[in-house]
Amino acid sequence: MIIYGTSGREIPVGEGQFHCPRCLAPQHFRHTRIARYFTLYFIPLFPISNHGEYVECSGCGGQFRPEVVHNPPHTNMPVGGGGQLEQAVRRELAKGMPLHLAVQKLTEAGNSQQAAQEMVAAACEGQMSYCPRCQCYFAAAVPACVQCQGALQPYQA
Ligand SMILES: [Zn+2]
Ligand SMILES: [Zn+2]
Repeated sequence: MIIYGTSGREIPVGEGQFHCPRCLAPQHFRHTRIARYFTLYFIPLFPISNHGEYVECSGCGGQFRPEVVHNPPHTNMPVGGGGQLEQAVRRELAKGMPLHLAVQKLTEAGNSQQAAQEMVAAACEGQMSYCPRCQCYFAAAVPACVQCQGALQPYQA
């Protein structure tokens, strides 16, 4: 799944071992710096600070902020034991919860903003739809906007 889009030149910074927050296991990573800019497909949803750098897991191909390399494993785990909470998020998203609300719920449950965004992104598996009227994003399986009942458009990242 691709969460991040890049524009500009990518410069390798380093590599090593880290605890991948998606694999939940030790993995090899590559640390890359974007020379120009780093854009996030979720910009309207997830305005997060721009580091211009990321680490990519060789196991799952997931891209994360460089800080994950320095975090001890447990701080990357979703609060509440991981699997269960993520399944709950998946269920809510499938029922039509807008993505930004899911992120909000997860942060209210004690997750960091970053962890919440990663969980929602993982739950959507990169497949999203979009309500042009409400400017809300949903999981791709959602048939209609829960707020205005309008038809959703596939969101092309
Ligand atoms: Zn991984
Ligand atoms: Zn709508």
